[in-house]
Amino acid sequence: MNSLQKRILTDGTVLPGNILKVDSFLNHQIDTGLLRDMGADFYELFKDKNINKILTIEASGIAIACYTAEHFNVPVVFAKKGNHKNVGNDVYTAEVFSFTKGTSYDVTVSKRYINKGDRVLVIDDFLANGQAVLGLKKIIEDAGAELCGAGIAITKCFQKGEQMLIDAGIDVKSLAAIESMEDCVIKFRE
Ligand code: 5GP
Repeated sequence: MNSLQKRILTDGTVLPGNILKVDSFLNHQIDTGLLRDMGADFYELFKDKNINKILTIEASGIAIACYTAEHFNVPVVFAKKGNHKNVGNDVYTAEVFSFTKGTSYDVTVSKRYINKGDRVLVIDDFLANGQAVLGLKKIIEDAGAELCGAGIAITKCFQKGEQMLIDAGIDVKSLAAIESMEDCVIKFRE
């Protein structure tokens, strides 16, 4: 069992609606030692992919992406949520349906920071129905770059996202793949 899996079992809480709360170490308060381990784990999983850029979505993906980028020695770009005037007009945009909020929002990346030929690793905190990663995939493709993999901290395997991304040809790897959370008991996939 890796550091993230152990931490989920000790400090994660299951909320109604298939939501796992990880605010005490990942999504609000951040345990930097844990993120250091996670960054190293993601590097081991994707080190052969010749990655030159990491892309994530604000806010919870940013810290994880930065600790991962340290190992690859590449920049992190984060997609901004909503319409940001200071990003400028020259942007790639995708619509994302939020699993936790139940509404859609736009994500935006300046055309300056994703370029044709880039080999991009997407990093995110959770994979539920796959909408966030698919939005980032669209942006990467619009830029003429290549999506080389998706590194997910926590995948809820009982939701449809993981299979959708696999079907879309994405190399998805998770540090904690949760098979079930029934009766608040978290079970990881073997
Ligand atoms: P998806 O786009 O795959 O449906 O959902 C992924 C996004 O929704 C993640 O970026 C994350 O912010 C949020 N999310 C999905 N499921 C959970 C969950 O169980 N707990 C938390 N804290 N966030 C979640």
